[in-house]
Amino acid sequence: MSADAPPFEVLPQQTYVPCKTDYLWGETRHKPFVVWSVEGDKVKVWDPSGGQRLGGFRWIAIRNLHESGTTKAGKERRTGWRLHSGPPAKGQELCGSCFRWLDRDEFNKTAWTLGHSTCKPCMAEIEERYGKL
Ligand SMILES: [Zn+2]
Repeated sequence: MSADAPPFEVLPQQTYVPCKTDYLWGETRHKPFVVWSVEGDKVKVWDPSGGQRLGGFRWIAIRNLHESGTTKAGKERRTGWRLHSGPPAKGQELCGSCFRWLDRDEFNKTAWTLGHSTCKPCMAEIEERYGKL
């Protein structure tokens, strides 16, 4: 990263994934999430598969969020989360499977609730694994 690059900023609607690539799905602290709001040194995040049907909120210390999965020294991070996608451009939708913000025409189906839409590549992968739905 060059010295005059803008400082890394945590912004609402960015998505983050765990730095460790071998994270376990189903374990709350290792799941990806969407930033809901930033308040001081804490970030309120939303996880569409947490809590009840509409997802769950929780708080995470802002220092656990990183711009990339490697440190300035080039080492792989073992803890925290790294920026994955976003904030979205106008009109973009969140894919609830890969947690990327994509244009609407990238979606196989769009849901009205955040995080429940599925993009075309994810749908193709689901169909390959489980057969056509
Ligand atoms: Zn997707």
